[in-house]
Amino acid sequence: MSRKQVYFFGNAKAEGSAEDKTLLGGKGANLAEMTNLGIPVPPGFTITTEVCAQYYRNNHNFPESLQDEILQHLRELERVQGKHFGDVNDPLLVSVRSGAAVSMPGMMDTVLNLGLNDETVVGLAKKSGNERFAWDAYRRFINMFGNVVLGISHHHFEKEIGRIKKEKKASLDSELDITSVKMVVEAYKQVVLAHHGEGFPQDVYHQLWASVQAVFRSWNNDRAIRYRRINSIIGLEGTAVNVQSMVFGNYGLRSGTGVCFSRDASTGEKVFYGEYLQNAQGEDVVAGIRTPQPLSFLQKDRPHIYEELVTIKDRLEAHYRDMQDIEFTMEEEKLYILQTRNAKRTGIAAVKIAVDMVQENLIDKKAAIIRVSGEQLQQLFHPMIDPEARKKSIVLAKGLNASPGAASGKMVFSAEEAEKSVENGNKVILVRNETSPEDIGGMNVAEGILTATGGMTSHAAVVARGMGRPCVVGCRDMHVYEQYMEIKGKKFQRGEIITIDGNMGEVFAGEVAFIEPSVSNELHTFLNWADEFRLNTKRKERTEFRVRTNADTPQQAQMAREMGAEGIGLCRTEHMFFEDTRIMKFRRMILANNKQDREQALSLLLPLQQSDFEGIFSAMDGLPVTIRLLDPPLHEFLPREDARIRELAEKTGMTELQLRVKIQELSEQNPMLGHRGCRLGITYPEIYQMQVRAIVRASIAVYKQGKRAIPEIMIPLIGAWQELRQTKELVESVIKEELPSDISIPYSIGTMIEIPRAALTAEKIAPYVDFFSFGTNDLTQMTFGFSRDDVNTFLPFYITEGILDEDPFQTLDVEGVGQLVEIGVRKGRSVNKKLKIGICGEHGGDIRSIAFCYEQNFDYVSCSPLRVPTARLAAAQQAVLDDANT
Ligand code: ADP
Ligand code: MG
Ligand code: MG
Repeated sequence: MSRKQVYFFGNAKAEGSAEDKTLLGGKGANLAEMTNLGIPVPPGFTITTEVCAQYYRNNHNFPESLQDEILQHLRELERVQGKHFGDVNDPLLVSVRSGAAVSMPGMMDTVLNLGLNDETVVGLAKKSGNERFAWDAYRRFINMFGNVVLGISHHHFEKEIGRIKKEKKASLDSELDITSVKMVVEAYKQVVLAHHGEGFPQDVYHQLWASVQAVFRSWNNDRAIRYRRINSIIGLEGTAVNVQSMVFGNYGLRSGTGVCFSRDASTGEKVFYGEYLQNAQGEDVVAGIRTPQPLSFLQKDRPHIYEELVTIKDRLEAHYRDMQDIEFTMEEEKLYILQTRNAKRTGIAAVKIAVDMVQENLIDKKAAIIRVSGEQLQQLFHPMIDPEARKKSIVLAKGLNASPGAASGKMVFSAEEAEKSVENGNKVILVRNETSPEDIGGMNVAEGILTATGGMTSHAAVVARGMGRPCVVGCRDMHVYEQYMEIKGKKFQRGEIITIDGNMGEVFAGEVAFIEPSVSNELHTFLNWADEFRLNTKRKERTEFRVRTNADTPQQAQMAREMGAEGIGLCRTEHMFFEDTRIMKFRRMILANNKQDREQALSLLLPLQQSDFEGIFSAMDGLPVTIRLLDPPLHEFLPREDARIRELAEKTGMTELQLRVKIQELSEQNPMLGHRGCRLGITYPEIYQMQVRAIVRASIAVYKQGKRAIPEIMIPLIGAWQELRQTKELVESVIKEELPSDISIPYSIGTMIEIPRAALTAEKIAPYVDFFSFGTNDLTQMTFGFSRDDVNTFLPFYITEGILDEDPFQTLDVEGVGQLVEIGVRKGRSVNKKLKIGICGEHGGDIRSIAFCYEQNFDYVSCSPLRVPTARLAAAQQAVLDDANT
């Protein structure tokens, strides 16, 4: 088997195309595609991802014929360019660039200016007539090669150039004269000798082989492996390597380099913008050492180049049918394109661009639905940076967008300080090199969290997501000390205000304006399209896939309806008792010594509970409302502090001692596994009777106002079918008592499936009910044996150590808990075809868990109001994908 290992691109002709992303990587495939389109791309060749995979299978050795094949293509490149690699008079220089099939930003490496050594640098200087340029290129090359290939840390090089700049009283690299640049080269060579044990390699072929290998290796560095696991990038075998002839934006004032975007990545508006640096090389823009100019600078400086760039960007966008992020370089007034890819964008921009592109006939609705990710949509429902303010703000540093939302505050550098400062009324951002379990308290009071190190699964990232705090991690340009932090040589003192954007992974100086979530016209249009697919795509057993919300109050219900909720999947009744005047009545009920006293106390609660339900039924007029009967253990309602206990004793006429004994009686070793849920309903039937009475009476009252209540009464914590049979009888007898024959209320009775035994015996349970609602919070807790309230002590560690890939309380554990769900659905429906199935745990709002529910033929998911739009999208995407697969 001798598969082609290297693909050429150049001279308006390429062996690959955009179709070959898997084989050539995104960068390589697009370089080939652009070459075929006749766009000016410096010629070169791409070594396939398969070669990288083979390199690994071969114990880090090149496949046998690889070097020959590369040399053959190098000869072709020399022919096209009219220069020779290693030629001491006029050397061909190349870049060696990584590029996998899926973009993995910042995870892998690139080397520029390869082919320079002590001799070729002299040739380049002569040939270009620009000695300083040549030596500066050599200096950059030693630094990059030293870092990427030899693994020598950047700061060793930084230290040397810093020292020489100080000596020469230069503040910018560009102010160093030729003698000084040569000194830097000498110093860099010493750094290599000292840390590598050998001199800087002078053999240009050795440079090439070593760089190709280094790029292969970067595919499997820890960072990259972790990144792939977290982003569920599977089935890829390696990175491609692009060897491309260099073009120089650092040749002089008629040269420069930049990046540009075919639309605005903050707002999504159709405007062309970007950044440009005169007399600079690629990485200068990214590194942020010099402040780039807006593109209007180029427009004034070289209008014909600007016009050419505009034409190319229009062509690329039309060709790829998506917003493009383009790298370009101008060498001596000739324009080259070095990369194009689908651009990263904010959530707002993603929605606007998707809708605009449908209206511009660039894409169809299906493509629009697939293109906006659930994470992007979710951003719109967290506080976010005002797009206009963003444009005027300076990004201090970039990192990974570990947890969504934006936050501003004073910088504090320790968790202790965070807690103190917040006590004094400040808003703070906790800034650390990395966080550890001792920092939890500080993280909890901070508005947001920022770390210099770490990835998407670092302690900071995992904990922040769990707490719902905006978080940016892995800002590698940032160094945190006790009193200040430093970014690229600039110091920022403790107490200074910064803003972090967890949506985009960016850090800004000072306070940047936020906007609150709202539903824009574009978003409205977009979600309506999503609903078309969600509701009209046929599945195996079910068609409609509904999105409901978890809401306990009429206000929440109303807001969720505005977000598109099609019912309430979980209305918890216990929250209704916490209000001050009610809690006393409720406590009286709990403390009652006999049935009669208890019934009397309950009769006081009945009208209150009825009015709660009337409010919710009215807000959800015509939509189903699942009401869960009382679930938590009773002692949760009793006071803990002494003063409160005394107060309650007075009010109930008990002695303090009597009350304390009662509280003691009610307390449990494992309350989550104790006297709660239907167990309460069975031992104290009066409680559930009162609740059901309130539900029926509220339904009738609403009915009489001309509205429609659709109550679904849910019995919690069933483990054995006998518990359900008994509780259901109780519920039905109250309904019979309360419901006049001339009023029809379309009620139903169901249960929460949250104890593993219930899922396993679903066929015994299903005959008694109209619906199952998977309570996946408790189901996860009981399946893993992880106490939900205590997981923070070990779960973040599990995730950073790779023991678990993610928090099972956020994303449904398909492997384990998912089996129970699958069994529950199958067994339940096997005896009750019409059984309605939903989910009401946290997972109901999680994108991947929703996909699972869709596949399991659920009738609905239920999630918090602000996650309803994301759930609508996630379901629609699943529908579009399923439809495409059948
Ligand atoms: P990354 O994926 O990190 O962006 P790239 O391979 O795109 O890495 O290269 C880093 C920088 O070097 C980019 O700004 C790119 O435009 C520039 N660059 C890469 N190859 C060349 C080349 N042959 N000539 C000039 N600049 C280049
Ligand atoms: Mg790039
Ligand atoms: Mg529960």
